[in-house]
Amino acid sequence: MHISTIQDALQKNNQVLQRFIKYAQLDTASNPANDACPSTPAQLKFAEILVQDLKEIGISDAYVDKKGFVYASLPSNCSSAIKVAFLAHMDVSFDFNSENIKPVIHKNYQGGPLRLSGGLTIDPADNPHLMDCIGESIITADGTTLLGADDKAGIAEIMEMLAFLIKTPEIKRPHIKVCFTPDEEKGTGINDIDLDKLDADFGYTVDGGIYGEVNMENFDAYSGKVTFHGINFHPGHSKGMMVNAIRYASRFVELLPAHETPETTEGRQGFIHPTSIHGDTSSAEVKMLLRAFSLSEIKRFEEIIRKTTEMLVAQEPRLKVDVEIKESYRNMVEVLKERREIGTYLEEAAKNVGLALNHLPIRGGTDGSRLSFMGLPCPNIFTGGVNFHSPKEWISLDKMVLTTVFLLALVQSMT
Ligand SMILES: [Zn+2]
Repeated sequence: MHISTIQDALQKNNQVLQRFIKYAQLDTASNPANDACPSTPAQLKFAEILVQDLKEIGISDAYVDKKGFVYASLPSNCSSAIKVAFLAHMDVSFDFNSENIKPVIHKNYQGGPLRLSGGLTIDPADNPHLMDCIGESIITADGTTLLGADDKAGIAEIMEMLAFLIKTPEIKRPHIKVCFTPDEEKGTGINDIDLDKLDADFGYTVDGGIYGEVNMENFDAYSGKVTFHGINFHPGHSKGMMVNAIRYASRFVELLPAHETPETTEGRQGFIHPTSIHGDTSSAEVKMLLRAFSLSEIKRFEEIIRKTTEMLVAQEPRLKVDVEIKESYRNMVEVLKERREIGTYLEEAAKNVGLALNHLPIRGGTDGSRLSFMGLPCPNIFTGGVNFHSPKEWISLDKMVLTTVFLLALVQSMT
């Protein structure tokens, strides 16, 4: 089926919009203070709604497990034996108000600032991507809440892809597996996914931003802890005897490279970021984040940390220092470069819909990076959403339709 025919059909039936509005109105914020999964009952309720919606479009095996994960599958209708998963998360951020979300549709956007209640505006001056959406319908919240396009847009797009595939059996597809996951914003949800149940060869999280942006790389993330052991004496009688751990901890932080910090780096540059100093005269501890896009960079940072502490010990041999460097998460490119076809399917789909992909390295982690190291290679692809976690969050309905068209082209590229 021709891409333009698919696009026309999706635009006419308007289902992406209806699904998105229905899902966005539910307050499904996760709760970082609750260790249970899902961390909020609203996510479980949303999971049940999604199961019902999946059954309505004709996916009979849809179900939600005890942890709040929704699993569903659509078998291949051709000779393709590929099993591809699509994942999106059900929770929204707890960083901003998500109670009583009222999506507002700004039809036929003609440029200029979008005005929300309370004097809030979304201005093309700091949202240049708005100018790529002239004549389109822009969806925002009303100015008092976030919108939750992160990641309700991803869910609506995956649902519409499935509905369209079922209604249009002449479109060839591989085995499609779907998983809607809880507690992504907390960073812990994905630990409880059952990859045996999902049963896929690889996957895509549909949880990215601007139309066309894909993420196949993320930070290699390590944490560092340096503990300085000093010697304490009565301060009135400690000449030549006291070794103050606090002084060495602060000297250490001062000696870290000033040009490799979060506030001085961007793109593919890494950093060492001291996050806390705790202690007293006898013992002081400095905690740090080490971030880079390769393990050799991480090794270089580790070397800087060790050399700096050795220099301090050389100046004061009575000082004792412990250095601890631990892995937090890894760059998924390590996994994806062994599985070139996963990126090739994206390129092929992009070519078929006339889109130039924009590869952006993520300066953070994603569920996909965890999944990649758990055995499910999983880049992240765009939803069309912008300004996540904020009252200025927005998404173009037309880009949501185009994203669904892209997903349909993606599954066809595997047949
Ligand atoms: Zn997200």
